[in-house]
Amino acid sequence: MALHHPALEWIWIVILGLIGLSVGLPAWQRLGVVGGVLGFIVGAVGLPAVLLLVIVGIECARRAGPRLPACHSGTCKGRLWPSLTDRDLGDYERTWVGDESALRCRCGRLYVTRQAERRFMELTPDGCVLPYRVHRDYRGWFPDDTETRPDEGPIEETTQAGKGEGGEHIE
Ligand SMILES: [Zn+2]
Repeated sequence: MALHHPALEWIWIVILGLIGLSVGLPAWQRLGVVGGVLGFIVGAVGLPAVLLLVIVGIECARRAGPRLPACHSGTCKGRLWPSLTDRDLGDYERTWVGDESALRCRCGRLYVTRQAERRFMELTPDGCVLPYRVHRDYRGWFPDDTETRPDEGPIEETTQAGKGEGGEHIE
């Protein structure tokens, strides 16, 4: 959630305030001032915090497994710790191949991501993009079996770049 617009931030403060009042006012009537203040804090801070934890927990579960899969040699990991940050690339290093962002593992193999980083594909030295791993929500990384589909074989040099799922060719 990127809420950088100042007006949006004020809307959130108003919403949190209203939630706080909806808990704090009844508590005030029943328990007095102290109960009202505590109720306001619980409503404005506690309930949204719990909700945020639930959302983050669901998002963690959806991104099951490491952010990036282990490399083809099985020796390089895709994250250093169970983080949600996109900066944690584990043993991979961000690099550039032509004008495309790629990832290089410690073995020297190159990888590129496709389809909003759901597919992790190996970039061979001759410029072919081969299926390797695909990420499934709540389950993690699985072998990308696209290469076993009969309709998608290795892509010839003459194939247009960026077409097809099975094996693109980039310069
Ligand atoms: Zn490696």
